[in-house]
Amino acid sequence: MKEPFLSAVPVLKILEDAGFQAYFVGGSVRDYLLGKQISDVDIATSATPDEVKTLFKKTIDIGIEHGTVLVLHNQNSYEITTFRTEGEYQDYRRPKEVAFIRSLTEDLKRRDFTMNAIAMDLNGNLIDPFGGQNDIHNKLIQTVGLAKERFHEDALRMLRAVRFASQLSFQIDTETLMALSNLNQLLSKIAVERKRAEFEKLLMGKNRKNALKILVDANLHLFLPGLEKYKKDIMKVIEVPCERLSRKEMWCLLLYYIEVNDADAEPFLREWRLPLKDIKDIRDCLYFTRQRLEQNWSIYQLYIAGYDTIQSAEKLTLVINGIQKMDSVEQWLDVYKRLPIKTRSDLDVTGSDLIEWSGKTGGPWLKQVLLQIEKAVLEGNVANEKQKIKEWLKQCSQK
Ligand code: ATP
Ligand code: MG
Repeated sequence: MKEPFLSAVPVLKILEDAGFQAYFVGGSVRDYLLGKQISDVDIATSATPDEVKTLFKKTIDIGIEHGTVLVLHNQNSYEITTFRTEGEYQDYRRPKEVAFIRSLTEDLKRRDFTMNAIAMDLNGNLIDPFGGQNDIHNKLIQTVGLAKERFHEDALRMLRAVRFASQLSFQIDTETLMALSNLNQLLSKIAVERKRAEFEKLLMGKNRKNALKILVDANLHLFLPGLEKYKKDIMKVIEVPCERLSRKEMWCLLLYYIEVNDADAEPFLREWRLPLKDIKDIRDCLYFTRQRLEQNWSIYQLYIAGYDTIQSAEKLTLVINGIQKMDSVEQWLDVYKRLPIKTRSDLDVTGSDLIEWSGKTGGPWLKQVLLQIEKAVLEGNVANEKQKIKEWLKQCSQK
């Protein structure tokens, strides 16, 4: 066994010494078997949340109704979830109530795919009642039990299947794939936030090409916000190599290819319930990418866009134009870094200076003059020094 499991062994030991069962489960075990980098380990136990809380000094209730307690141990934090079954599923969504149980196998049975239903004990022994290791070996995504039933219970699993296909480059098993096509409309019952989390992982996955194809072939896109009418356009995203793009850049690329105009970008992203800051960043990025595809950056555009947007829009421009070399990103960022000012507050004059010098009262003229000064400073027509700017203004007024 290796890190990060090793550091977590003492946590399992504390649970076992108190007479409970405790295992590593879920994505961490799957990724370990795949030889992938693991960030967090998830722990499942027969102890109830209250019992877990009595065993560790520092705990935080992060989802106690679902049986999850966060345990802080030796500078690390671990999500410990009580074995559970999910009672009645309501309306194709996750169940409202869960029942805590003492059986590991029952807990593994409620999990979505065989590859995610493997447990590992503190000695590294695997408990794999549904053939998960075999499916990992065959690179196959297969539900635990009948796909049809499992998707009826929680339709988000359909989208999860496709995002795992993207992240892991696995195939989806035939029965599971058929259920995706037949039951796609169940996805309309699922909260947008849950769909977004999976869709973003899908977009960021290595094999998005294959995954987006599965998504549109199974008509799952019909039940994703704003994507109903874009079957052909979604496929355009497939054609471009976009490995090095961030989450927000991927959204921007999608908007570009499905040809959402600048005015419609915000409502589209709001429908996906993205945070307002993300919406602003993605909109800026889309706007400047479109500008950049038309022409080189002007000094003023660099100034308005700012570091992060320049970086993203330049990267996207290269990706869209099919250019592999990313040198121009650094080059434009260097130009930006050398700009004499980065924001209006960097100007060596303020509105009050202008009022004082002119003897006029404030008004819309102030904004205009400041803009004029800003542009002159950026273009190197005047140094960003109060006295120089004052003289420059005087000269301008004499012209
Ligand atoms: P990732 O590496 O992206 O976190 P993961 O497999 O850990 O992948 P999570 O969403 O963190 O995915 O879920 C942890 C585990 O919980 C899964 O491996 C699976 O066993 C179970 N699980 C999560 N969501 C569902 C679901 N909708 N239905 C059934 N089981 C689920
Ligand atoms: Mg996880």
